Amino acid sequence: MFDWLIVGAGFAGSVLAERLATQRGERVLVIDKRNHIGGNAYDRYDAAGVLMHQYGPHIFHTNSQAIVDYLSAFTEWRPYEHRVLAQVDGQLLPIPINRTTLNKLYGLSLSTDEEAEAFLQTLAEPVDEIRTSEDVVVSRVGRELYEKFFRGYTRKQWGVDPSELDKSVTARVPTRVNEDDRYFADQFQCMPAGGYTRMFEKMLDHPGIKVMLNARFEEIRNIIPFRRMIFTGPVDEYYGFRFGRLPYRSLQFEHVTLDKPWHQPVGVVNYPQTEDYTRITEYKHLTGQEHSRTSLTYERSAAEGEPYYPVPRPENAALYKQYEALAEQEKDVWFVGRLATYRYYNMDQVVGQALATFRRIHTALSEVESA
Ligand code: FAD
Ligand code: UDP
Repeated sequence: MFDWLIVGAGFAGSVLAERLATQRGERVLVIDKRNHIGGNAYDRYDAAGVLMHQYGPHIFHTNSQAIVDYLSAFTEWRPYEHRVLAQVDGQLLPIPINRTTLNKLYGLSLSTDEEAEAFLQTLAEPVDEIRTSEDVVVSRVGRELYEKFFRGYTRKQWGVDPSELDKSVTARVPTRVNEDDRYFADQFQCMPAGGYTRMFEKMLDHPGIKVMLNARFEEIRNIIPFRRMIFTGPVDEYYGFRFGRLPYRSLQFEHVTLDKPWHQPVGVVNYPQTEDYTRITEYKHLTGQEHSRTSLTYERSAAEGEPYYPVPRPENAALYKQYEALAEQEKDVWFVGRLATYRYYNMDQVVGQALATFRRIHTALSEVESA
């Protein structure tokens, strides 16, 4: 009898397995339907020997010292500041939009933050209430830059117009008046030095943790006895879609290796106007690996397929609330992670959520045990 069944070996499941085994001495079985651990953060060496990310580029960034400290027990870090260029009107321009973007696109020589801010003010369109992903961008940079950098990319990525998505989606990408061309502004920006999969292996390397791959929850739920459960898959699937399906956006990844050392100047190039793919990732920029060849991933988004992104829209949030109400009534099942709590979370946020869930579980079980 296992104390815990954990469904999903991504960040949510692996952090909880590690905590339950090391802090409470529990016997944990972690299962995943895939043939590997790490969830969407899984990385591997491809046939050419280049370290790549099977599910698209994963860059670790956070402002939480506690989360860095926690993960540092399982990995060393390689400092890496992510930079992204967008192919717009035939040029490669920094995204997030910054002063350099404005100068190159409009042939200007804005030299201070104030000048860039004043220029943006001439473009910005007032919006009464900022509600959607269109409002966020148009109110800050105006319609022309919105069309060039955001509208096409968002329509490709989400299959809907930005006017139909919560403001939180495009609000992930700031607008800057300085020349900072980093994609993220977080205090900690780094990559696990040996890769994500190596970090997950260390996390799960404990005598109290068993890992079973190629195992779907539905196949083993009635075969293997367990007392409590952590579920990190899609919450609507857990409940047999009884209120209807929660929409998730899927992706298709095309991985290629080229017979040359480099393909593009930065880790990711976005294609907001042209091409049917949204972005190309070149991994050696992220990992620092030296190799005579280079591996890339082309990302195309899709309505059908593995669920990757919860779709932030009011009606989806309302549907999720119905599932959340069921989940909250469960006595011995906890729902954690991006799919199980239907939140557009980054890796650090999932680690934070998992650590907080562990603290709640520990408190609750300690009370039961001492009663
Ligand atoms: P997952 O990693 O999805 O793990 C859930 C696991 O559960 C999966 O392995 C799945 O196979 C398994 N599972 C589901 N259902 C079942 C079942 N019924 N039976 C058995 N197993 C099941 N975050 C960042 O911080 N930085 C980035 O740069 C970044 N880039 C991203 C790029 C892409 C393309 C995507 C899709 C996400 C990105 N993220 C990024 C987000 C990051 O992937 C997530 O925050 C994190 O991986 C979520 O961890 P999780 O454990 O909640 O879910
Ligand atoms: N976005 C865009 N153009 C870009 C980059 C981002 O329109 O060049 C929008 C798009 O809607 C995207 C969202 O901003 O889905 C969030 O971007 P982010 O890079 O955070 O997406 P993720 O890495 O999570 O796919």
